[in-house]
Amino acid sequence: MSHPGATASDRHKVVIIGSGFGGLNAAQKLKRADVDVKLIARTTHHLFQPLLYQVATGIISEGEIAPPTRLILRKQENAQVLLGDVTHIDLANKTVHSELLGHDYSTPYDDLIIAAGAGQSYFGNDHFAEFAPGMKSIDDALELRGRILGAFEQAERSSDPARRRKLLTFVVVGAGPTGVEMAGQIQELADQTLKGSFRLIDPSEAHVILLDAAPAVLPPMGEKLGLKAKARLEKMGVEVQLNAMVTDVDRNGITVKDSDGTIRRIESACKVWSAGVSASPLGRDLVEQSDTEIDRAGRVKVNPDLSIPGHPNVFVIGDMAYVEGVPGMAQGAIQGAKYVADILKNEAKAREHGTKPKPREPFSYFDKGSMATVSKYNAVAQIPLGSSKKLEFGGFFAWLAWLGLHLIYLVGFKTKVATLLSWAVTFLSRERGQLTITEQQAYARTRLEQLEDLAASVRETEKAAS
Ligand SMILES: Cc1cc2nc3c(=O)[nH]c(=O)nc-3n(C[C@H](O)[C@H](O)[C@H](O)COP(=O)(O)OP(=O)(O)OC[C@H]3O[C@@H](n4cnc5c(N)ncnc54)[C@H](O)[C@@H]3O)c2cc1C
Repeated sequence: MSHPGATASDRHKVVIIGSGFGGLNAAQKLKRADVDVKLIARTTHHLFQPLLYQVATGIISEGEIAPPTRLILRKQENAQVLLGDVTHIDLANKTVHSELLGHDYSTPYDDLIIAAGAGQSYFGNDHFAEFAPGMKSIDDALELRGRILGAFEQAERSSDPARRRKLLTFVVVGAGPTGVEMAGQIQELADQTLKGSFRLIDPSEAHVILLDAAPAVLPPMGEKLGLKAKARLEKMGVEVQLNAMVTDVDRNGITVKDSDGTIRRIESACKVWSAGVSASPLGRDLVEQSDTEIDRAGRVKVNPDLSIPGHPNVFVIGDMAYVEGVPGMAQGAIQGAKYVADILKNEAKAREHGTKPKPREPFSYFDKGSMATVSKYNAVAQIPLGSSKKLEFGGFFAWLAWLGLHLIYLVGFKTKVATLLSWAVTFLSRERGQLTITEQQAYARTRLEQLEDLAASVRETEKAAS
């Protein structure tokens, strides 16, 4: 319904930053609200991050977990999708500044929902990224797929036993859900899918190491499930190294410090980083202009209604927000999106009827539990039962529950069908349908980053000289 006399240009403007779980859900929930929605994101797709590891290990294609946001919102007439990297939020002038291929754009807002998520954290050692890519984007997953399969290819061509060993040693840093899933899948890829396809190497000789500075696997899921996951991984052949802190990463391997102070080296060509996250730097932009504070992971400390101090029209949701008891998981972002959209819908209705909006209730999170797959037919799951009791189980039924839930949350019917077919190929046989790799996937991103660094230092030198 349209506000009497409102035109597209003077209708209440809601700008959303990000097309992940938070941003997309907020836009969709505003479908029937009398507002104009502009969703600005730096990718053209909505990414289902929980299945990135399956793209990296050749089970599904990137298209299956990254449908175009524009097509998802095609029928939502009050929503416009804009591609751009948000560089600055001007709170005083209520404007979002974004950049696309050297062009700058500004977008005014009445209400702003910031859902820019989190990136990989290397705990101050960003140079590790070149040798140990993280798992946050389609680029990351394809790069890793290229590096994992590329390592087997190079090993087949090498006659030097030490080099071969290095190429067939895969180190996954971080024993959270992503690390557990990656380690399990690299091991299965080596033992099952690639079996018998090389002539000089035996892929099952691959040595997969899952390493963490913490003393446990899957710490947030508790001791029982952590031990279950660890036992299953070890049965598959994954070596789990705990209390092991990575102190350096280079092209040929990693340096590790054990809890007794021993420093040791693991020679490995292919490393995966899944050890930490750091919220979008847009949080810092808010800190500079308001009384907003961020925590050590860069998350914005929001008010009980998810707005920021002094700006009731600016909300931060999802991985970018710090709310006591809300984990950095898809459900946190989805529920935050729904909550903020309800506030905005209620306020739009009040504007329409010239009445006062209902007071905002504080956001409350409903914990639906968490899961992680360990291998084909094996997962661990934790479901809260109320009054701080939890149902914890592992094995085949947890895996079935994981499968069903992920299918429900994938966006779009075609995506669900395509993913189901890919799963059938992988889970009912030892095949995988997405083992294509290109040189560009494996190395172009780091080369581009090096070129960008070079261009930036040339610009600095020119600026200093002029
Ligand atoms: C590998 C992996 C596995 C995971 N597995 C699970 C799981 O099994 N279960 C679970 O519940 N959760 C899982 N998570 C966590 C879950 O994906 C996140 O909690 C969720 O995506 C957070 O949603 P969000 O909207 O806050 O951020 P995101 O989904 O990360 O979306 C952020 C959006 O902001 C955009 N963006 C960022 N910066 C800018 C900018 N400056 N300008 C414009 N756009 C910008 C991004 O392009 C993206 O569209 C996993 C995460 C990862 C990385």
